[in-house]
Amino acid sequence: MSEYTVFWGCTIPLRLPYIEKSTRIVFDVLSTKIHDVDGFTCCPEGVLAKANSEDAFYAGAARNLALCERQGRDVITPCNGCYSTFKETQSHLTTSWRDRDRINTALEAAGESNPEYAENPMKYTGSARVYHMAEYLCDEVGIGAVASHVKRPLNNMRIAVHYGCHMLRPQPAIRWDDALHPTKFESLITALGATVVDYPSKMQCCGGALDRVGARDSSLAFARRKLDDLKINDVDALIVACPSCFLQFDLNQAAMQRAKEQFDIPVFFLSEILALSFGVDKEELGLDGHKVSTDSFFEKWDATKDYNEHLARHFDVSLLNKCNGCRACKDDCPVGKIDPTFRPNDLIQALVEGRMDEAIESAEAFKCVECYNCQELCHSRIGMADTMRTLKELGVARGIGPEAVKTGFEMILDQGVLGAPRASARKKLGLADVPKSGGHALRDVLAALDAEFENKVETNAESEE
Ligand code: SF4
Ligand code: SF4
Ligand code: SF4
Repeated sequence: MSEYTVFWGCTIPLRLPYIEKSTRIVFDVLSTKIHDVDGFTCCPEGVLAKANSEDAFYAGAARNLALCERQGRDVITPCNGCYSTFKETQSHLTTSWRDRDRINTALEAAGESNPEYAENPMKYTGSARVYHMAEYLCDEVGIGAVASHVKRPLNNMRIAVHYGCHMLRPQPAIRWDDALHPTKFESLITALGATVVDYPSKMQCCGGALDRVGARDSSLAFARRKLDDLKINDVDALIVACPSCFLQFDLNQAAMQRAKEQFDIPVFFLSEILALSFGVDKEELGLDGHKVSTDSFFEKWDATKDYNEHLARHFDVSLLNKCNGCRACKDDCPVGKIDPTFRPNDLIQALVEGRMDEAIESAEAFKCVECYNCQELCHSRIGMADTMRTLKELGVARGIGPEAVKTGFEMILDQGVLGAPRASARKKLGLADVPKSGGHALRDVLAALDAEFENKVETNAESEE
């Protein structure tokens, strides 16, 4: 089990405890043990602290980080602001050794009256690695490993993400994704099965910091611009990974709605949407603490639940969604080049959009010759052959598909080989008779496998009784 110190910041535990709850649940599911530490202060918040005193900003952050270092663990924070503060401080104190020495002298002096620090004075060294929660999930746990916990995929849900400036910037101090064209947060949401919707103002700041300096109208104008974009793009929810951004799009959207500006865009924190897709009940997450109703999201999601579960029984849903969002190889299939009616990407789209029956009944998948060209060309080595094969299996089970597929398979089962030997041609070439084929051997093996399967089903049924 991996162990980390968690730095919540001020806003989550004080104002948004339901975000703390879902975050704890997510770490639990992922077997990441997080430790709370006494003695933290505000990270401190950059706009407010730096305007008053750069020393307060760097010394405040260095003290928090020194506390983390004393625990001997790396740090995870689910707050963009805290993340940016810590990364910026680490970067600054790496190069500005004079500031680091001044701050360490002050940390030691301030700790003199505390007996706890008598033997081991407070000191900042920069040894604790700082992760944003999204960064930790993408880069340390891995998107595939996160996806493996999905029990209720978000198929058919149109989701937008808001990165928030301080998850990525200042770029020289952070560098876990491209500061202007990031993709990792979106990949994480795609892995939950959702269709991630792009929108023009995606990389724009939430504007919440303007609220903190008394420019409320400008702050709301920032939020309004994004919410308008999201409305036009028909999204079912916005996902954020910062408590300040959450307040901006949930609390302030609700305030705008009270003033008769209707957006109705449900907002979820990253940990909430993860927990929901991991199968956690919304009641357990305390989502009634949200100011903007999440009902429209759940109405649509609940309506697609049965189909999503059915789809996940046959396909790797996260790969289907990735493929559907990509379509980069749509013109590369050699069969599609000869027969333009064969469009494997369209079959994948049909699956994602709730049209599995249509995809199976069309029997189009049988045209896939499993050449794996698509897989070789795919940047993620996904390809579409496996999906086509599952569609074929489902088609065969329904008695659909070319007659040749059925008769060829029957011949393998009956005779063990495909075709009869050309005895005279072999003789003419001086070749001996073909060795005897296994005949019915394969059919016997399959019958034994079927019997074993039936036995297992019966044993399971008995043990459940
Ligand atoms: S960034 Fe904001 S929420 Fe996070 S610790 Fe600082 S002030 Fe608190
Ligand atoms: S594996 Fe199937 S879908 Fe992929 S390129 Fe070959 S024929 Fe086309
Ligand atoms: S197989 Fe790969 S390249 Fe082709 S659409 Fe799917 S993800 Fe994109």
